[in-house]
Amino acid sequence: MGVAFYKALKDGLGPVRKSKKLEIEILGAESLGVRGLCCFIGCGDRNVLIDPGIALGYKRHRLLPHPFQVAVDERIQRKILDRWQSATDIVISHFHGDHVPLADANPFQLNIRQVLGLNPDVRMWVKAPDAYTPIERERAADLALMLKTDLLAETGRHEAMTFSRPVPHGDYNSSDTVMMTRIESERVFVHASDIQLLNEEAVLQILDWRPDVALVGGPPLYLSRLSENQIRNAWRNALRLARGVDCLILDHHLMRNFEGEAWLEKLSRQSGSRVMCSADFMNTPRMLLEASRQKLYRDMPVSPSWHESYGMGTADTDAYWHKAGKLYPDLALL
Ligand SMILES: [Zn+2]
Repeated sequence: MGVAFYKALKDGLGPVRKSKKLEIEILGAESLGVRGLCCFIGCGDRNVLIDPGIALGYKRHRLLPHPFQVAVDERIQRKILDRWQSATDIVISHFHGDHVPLADANPFQLNIRQVLGLNPDVRMWVKAPDAYTPIERERAADLALMLKTDLLAETGRHEAMTFSRPVPHGDYNSSDTVMMTRIESERVFVHASDIQLLNEEAVLQILDWRPDVALVGGPPLYLSRLSENQIRNAWRNALRLARGVDCLILDHHLMRNFEGEAWLEKLSRQSGSRVMCSADFMNTPRMLLEASRQKLYRDMPVSPSWHESYGMGTADTDAYWHKAGKLYPDLALL
């Protein structure tokens, strides 16, 4: 399966939306510069927006997000809002702030107020409410109330989409869960956010779904609390997926530090199949901006009052956006 196949997946739909081809656009992820795992899937007459949320690591290395990160965040937010308008279905894997708009969003997240009235008829699919944590219950209630919509919580198959039962968000002992989504047309696509490859249940479900393309949340190697045993488990699960899925895209927590890149290369070598991140799939340069935060501050110093001013709407990101364009010309800016 070569480059032409992936290109066909991305370019396949063209103007003919009923061709049943599968069009995959990854909008937000760590390798694209922000936290999240948001994508837009076109298949036949359905347009499915999955995990329409975004975030920036609030503090890394004791630093708030660099304004260039914020500039990228703003542009991806605009894309998500645009796709929100043309979606027939919106799927929310779970209610963490990097996956869903919030009523009390921080300045780097999507706020529910931004999507009010954008697409009143869209169907919204969520996991079973009995799997909500208390904060998820509040956030789901906010969303339903403010958008004046019902949240559809049904596992199993609905037209081209199939939803999993809630599976662990990371390790088995996590109280958080996520819902995975399978979309089938001529090809099969699977979205599996935040499973972190730390539990076998999710991995077996993905393999059982026989995807041609899977977009999966990788392990959080940047967290020092990850044990040797968990890292070994994640590796074993990653190898199984890489061998069982034609096109495996790993991103999210995995790409919050540069160790994630090395992990991907090693996985490609050992599995014999090319594993990629979202930026590779989208054919754009990798932008691991969270991993680069200290460098961004060194290259483009930030006044101590910038974040407060940005929060009040009296500072913007323009100067940093343009400066980054000059400093890093190899980054194809969005
Ligand atoms: Zn997440």
